Amino acid sequence: MTDNDSTSSTDFIRTIIQEDKRTGKFDGRVHTRFPPEPNGYLHIGHAKSICLNFGVANDFGGKTNLRFDDTNPTKEEVEYVESIQADIRWLGFDWEDRLFFASDYFEQLYQYAVKLIKKGKAYVCDLTADEIREYRGTLTEPGRDSPYHDRSIEENLDLFKRMRAGEFPDGSHTLRAKIDMASGNLNLRDPILYRILHESHHRTGGQWCIYPMYDWAHGQSDSIEGITHSICTLEFQDHRPLYDWFLDELEIYHPQQIEFARLNLNYTVMSKRKLLQLVNEKRVSGWDDPRMPTLSGMRRRGYTPEAIRDFADRIGVARNDSVVDIALLEYCVRQDLNQRAPRVMAVLNPLKVVIDNYPDDLVEDMEAINNPGDDSAGTRQVPFSKELYIEQEDFSEDPPKKFYRLAPGREVRLRYAYFITCTGVEKDPETDEILALHCTYDPATRGGDAPDGRKVKATLHWVSTRHGLPVEVRQYDRLFLAENPNEVAEGQTFLDHLNPDSLEILETCYAEPSLKGAAAGDRFQFERLGYFCVDKDSSPSKLVFNRTVALRDSWAKFENKRFFGG
Ligand code: ATP
Ligand code: MG
Repeated sequence: MTDNDSTSSTDFIRTIIQEDKRTGKFDGRVHTRFPPEPNGYLHIGHAKSICLNFGVANDFGGKTNLRFDDTNPTKEEVEYVESIQADIRWLGFDWEDRLFFASDYFEQLYQYAVKLIKKGKAYVCDLTADEIREYRGTLTEPGRDSPYHDRSIEENLDLFKRMRAGEFPDGSHTLRAKIDMASGNLNLRDPILYRILHESHHRTGGQWCIYPMYDWAHGQSDSIEGITHSICTLEFQDHRPLYDWFLDELEIYHPQQIEFARLNLNYTVMSKRKLLQLVNEKRVSGWDDPRMPTLSGMRRRGYTPEAIRDFADRIGVARNDSVVDIALLEYCVRQDLNQRAPRVMAVLNPLKVVIDNYPDDLVEDMEAINNPGDDSAGTRQVPFSKELYIEQEDFSEDPPKKFYRLAPGREVRLRYAYFITCTGVEKDPETDEILALHCTYDPATRGGDAPDGRKVKATLHWVSTRHGLPVEVRQYDRLFLAENPNEVAEGQTFLDHLNPDSLEILETCYAEPSLKGAAAGDRFQFERLGYFCVDKDSSPSKLVFNRTVALRDSWAKFENKRFFGG
């Protein structure tokens, strides 16, 4: 992890590119790509890669392509192709007219494979998947040549053509590169280039029944597009010799692969397979459930693209794997929303307060500041009346030490309004439940200060019962209780770490009337509570809010030292 001072201009990838520009490698060009497989929604880990690829190109006056790595028709869907584009745009990046699909290159890739066969560098193999595994050997033992290793070039060309023509069933043949079954790098032990899959593809339909493997498609697609720096995550480091071997044997333009450490976040899973499982098993409401680490989930929750880009900047780019504290992401969101979110008052767990000496029918408009950090945000009027809601937790009948909020006989300030003093507690005679508080107000304290200079120790937010909008609030906690949900005991899965209390729905909340007409996606600070975003489930009669993040981290003490060198 890099510290806060590490600006994006100092990471090792930018250093490499700077040097390449200086030496004139790639004629000084910088051209990156972001290559998602459309088999799921983008998550915060992808955001790191997007910010890096587009950010680097931006810094060096280069370009970035969006290329779908759509080589596996069994798992890929148009829904994902669309959501991925929407998410990248939302993050604030633009691939202009450079939207590509690996499937656009299927014919070219086929011709490249023919070229390898003709060079005696690829062969059709009839071993089954299990046999191939068996022949491959292990990390400590060399593999053995396939019995089909020495087929003639003519026979290979003929069989490969017939594979394409659909003459063979799935799994009966593969095309393999002829490299070295004794290589210390398993990726070089005659890797598969093509497998037979009689499956319809979301773009090429029934045109193909052989599909290229990732390694075969990826580097050649980079080459076709004139990519200069092919930035990928560390697990591809061992694939780089293969990436290079293909391009060298094909004698085509050769981009440079560079690996960086993927983003890992604690309390989070980022494998698309696991995220898909959460969706399919309805552990969450969908890919855009506000608890998901997907960009669509975070957007729905109220995260801003600015906050996510800031987060990507702060975590920096390194060569070593590490786990980032999710509290840093929440910090970035809080920082950004603090500057931009208008303040409003809402009461989540209402407790009724009756101000006995306030005139029955009087309504006063109290002037409230929209954003104390931004004068241009102006003010608004909030209606005040005889009956109000305050938070249940702002009252204690028998206040413990250091509880400075409302209690019998105690005076507090109502934000933007008056000082009130609690004079009585109305209870249900049977259950002893508190039904309402009785208070008096001091008319001389309007606006929030006493002319005689007396002080109160607490300021509470409130909503007039007559004017309050009924709203629903959804509060989220971490989706997983374990710091590393992937670490499981014998017989368990990551699902055993799910937090049963990750969603709390508060159905009877009240917000000040200025929120009427707020639209899905609008973000606010509810004073003293946190940041909230209007959910798409809202209806004209009831707004639904997602809590984006609480005002302060209530989960763990945020480790200031770690991030800010304090
Ligand atoms: P899989 O290949 O298992 O489906 P993936 O997460 O690698 O999942 P891709 O669609 O292939 O998904 O990823 C697109 C790009 O995003 C790749 O270049 C990949 O390296 C990068 N990426 C994926 N996850 C992360 C992460 N956690 N941190 C940084 N980059 C990531
Ligand atoms: Mg991948």
